[in-house]
Amino acid sequence: MALKISSEFRKEISKLGEGFSINYCYQCGTCSGGCPALRYTKVYNPRRIMENVLLGFKEDTLKDPVLWLCTMCHACLEACPQGVKVSEILIILRNLATQIGSYPEHLNAEVSALLDYGLINPGSGAIQRRRQQLGLPEVPRPKVDNIKKVADETGFIKLTGYKPKEE
Ligand code: SF4
Ligand code: SF4
Repeated sequence: MALKISSEFRKEISKLGEGFSINYCYQCGTCSGGCPALRYTKVYNPRRIMENVLLGFKEDTLKDPVLWLCTMCHACLEACPQGVKVSEILIILRNLATQIGSYPEHLNAEVSALLDYGLINPGSGAIQRRRQQLGLPEVPRPKVDNIKKVADETGFIKLTGYKPKEE
């Protein structure tokens, strides 16, 4: 089946956050050259992701699990000779992917921890005790109600299908 090239996806991304910068991408590959995720696995390639956006391959881009291999180190953003905000565009792509339910399953556990405890990694009792033994201060607990309110009002809770923990 022939792939259909279109400018629609590029235009959509251009209107979001730092997305307009994708229009300056000339596919030099500098972003990929310094990318630690690509060094780890050749299936990941930020230049190719930018190319797929430019070519309009929306569904393939948003449903591709490689989108979630980026470490968000921002090395690509700093290196791009054209000022393309590569990592910011990757965040936009992840947000769009999440809106269509295409995100890694394990993130549900992190969402639950964030909304139940205010921390993605709330830490076990053993860790708390060890901190006490070492004379380290208690990790302050964020105000979970405030986090839930933001999550609710931005539509985040609905998007993730979060269920509060049972008391
Ligand atoms: S470094 Fe910049 S211009 Fe070069 S491919 Fe990456 S995003 Fe495009
Ligand atoms: S932010 Fe992501 S794409 Fe950019 S260099 Fe780091 S791992 Fe690679």
